[in-house]
Amino acid sequence: MSIQWFPGHMNAAKKEAAEQMENTDLVIEVLDARLPEASCNPMVEELRKFRQRPCLKILNKTDLADPAATAAWKAYYEAQQGVTAYPMSTKHPADVARIPALCQSLAPHRGVPTKPLRIMIMGIPNVGKSTLMNALLKKRVAKVGDEPAVTKIQQKLYLGKHTVLVDTPGMLWPKIAMAGDGMMLAASHAVGSNALIEEEVAEFLANLLLDRYPQLLTARYGFKTEGLDGIAVIEQVAQRRGFRVRGGEFDYEKAAHVLLHDYRTGALGRISLETPETRAAALIQHAAE
Ligand code: GDP
Repeated sequence: MSIQWFPGHMNAAKKEAAEQMENTDLVIEVLDARLPEASCNPMVEELRKFRQRPCLKILNKTDLADPAATAAWKAYYEAQQGVTAYPMSTKHPADVARIPALCQSLAPHRGVPTKPLRIMIMGIPNVGKSTLMNALLKKRVAKVGDEPAVTKIQQKLYLGKHTVLVDTPGMLWPKIAMAGDGMMLAASHAVGSNALIEEEVAEFLANLLLDRYPQLLTARYGFKTEGLDGIAVIEQVAQRRGFRVRGGEFDYEKAAHVLLHDYRTGALGRISLETPETRAAALIQHAAE
């Protein structure tokens, strides 16, 4: 029986992750490329550094993110944090196909018959972990289709001959360090929100778009953004789209929903909610408050 070194106050998910980490050689941390720091859970770094495990930080959903911001994040993680960052989209099979070799290069001492490479995929909900896992496994299943039958469980776990996916631990929630993080997560649907909060989230998004991507608002809805604030942007969306409630008032709720939907689906264009620069500025402001 192994001795447990984890303090009693450690919550169940963290304890499970810490135990899993012992039997893991490499961590794939999946982040949302549009909001990498807001979509991280610092526990992943804490645990994997404690066990000195290498990490591949996947910046997922690059098909939705601003390419310039994604490039800046890759440079930031590699230069500032010394980890390999891999921008990708699970929608692009070629991106997924590169992952096994990348993992192998980060853990060259593993991946042989006596020492399989054990990979744990971690990340907060909705960043694309299951989609990624399925994409990785589908490739494998396609490749091994004519091999003698193996049990379903084995088939599910083996990525390559000597590469195994370790069970992903339970839910890891984001650590919402600043109010803006909660807004970014809600805008990107990583945390749920009710109708009332949706309007607040839409206003947050509208202000961010005014600041950083005004041209995308104009291109999508056909109004000029000069002099507008977030609320006025949502009113403009309602006006342009003819969203009215009974009595003739603009349907603010519907317009807020459409703005969020257009961001979430990429219909507005490729948008990143934070960059290394905006993150640094937010942290400074947060510390001063
Ligand atoms: P999990 O909770 O981390 O396992 O996330 P899921 O794999 O369930 O994905 C959450 C949502 O994101 C689903 O609607 C996926 O289709 C979507 N998704 C995952 N990866 C990508 C991606 O690279 N691009 C886009 N546009 N959507 C993605």
